[in-house]
Amino acid sequence: MRLFKISFIIVFGCLTASVSAQVNGLFQAYDCREHIETFFEQVPLDEPLPFSLDSIISYDFEQNLFAVDTTDGWKNWRLVQNYSFGKDRGSMPMIADLTALHPYFRDKISQLIKICKTKGIELTVVETYRTHAKQHEYKTMGKKYTSSGAGRSKHQYGLAVDVVPIIDSAAVWDNIALWRKVGAAGEKLGLRWGGRWRKPFDPGHFEWTGGLSSTHLSLGVLPPIPLSNEHYPCLEEDIRLLRKYWTEWEVSQSSLTLK
Ligand SMILES: [Zn+2]
Repeated sequence: MRLFKISFIIVFGCLTASVSAQVNGLFQAYDCREHIETFFEQVPLDEPLPFSLDSIISYDFEQNLFAVDTTDGWKNWRLVQNYSFGKDRGSMPMIADLTALHPYFRDKISQLIKICKTKGIELTVVETYRTHAKQHEYKTMGKKYTSSGAGRSKHQYGLAVDVVPIIDSAAVWDNIALWRKVGAAGEKLGLRWGGRWRKPFDPGHFEWTGGLSSTHLSLGVLPPIPLSNEHYPCLEEDIRLLRKYWTEWEVSQSSLTLK
């Protein structure tokens, strides 16, 4: 819950100068503030902060410039309820918003969805980011759901997604030929496909870890993007905001299990 609604003084400080100087492919200034829905504010040193500490995304010491998120964007993430796609997925809702994913992986999945569309396959997203509580729920539901306990699934780092093809408004889980086409498209994009696995066979699952193991991920390391920073000038801020939103969801869903 955000307690402070503040009016914003937009300041063009050196925090933004370095990224504003970078340009995207169209040679337009890339505005990270707009990109991450974050506002920048300078607060005199002798005054109390007009926003809560956990809303601070970053701080520039030289400029005394705060990047602040007050958007509660995590609350707007798209959710999927149990049985929405004809399968038991437990009592906790699934987060199915692409913005809940690591920015690089998110773009790969958007590409996958587009590529499949050109092949006449309509994919829908079943689940993206997964909290510890939700992962634990799957674990208790048995081996056909997951072999990974809390902390071991790539979903818990915004690096995995579950999709399913839709035909005539219905999810199609068991068309192997269709899954092979989707899997091939994903692998061409450099993603690991769960259709190669046997325990469990998970053809709707795609992940990307940039070579990192679950151990690295559980230590809080996220994979470096295999592109120049120019493509993702706001990556650091994006991830900071993402982690904040993930934490909000962790708190929200773990409180469900305590009830
Ligand atoms: Zn999955």
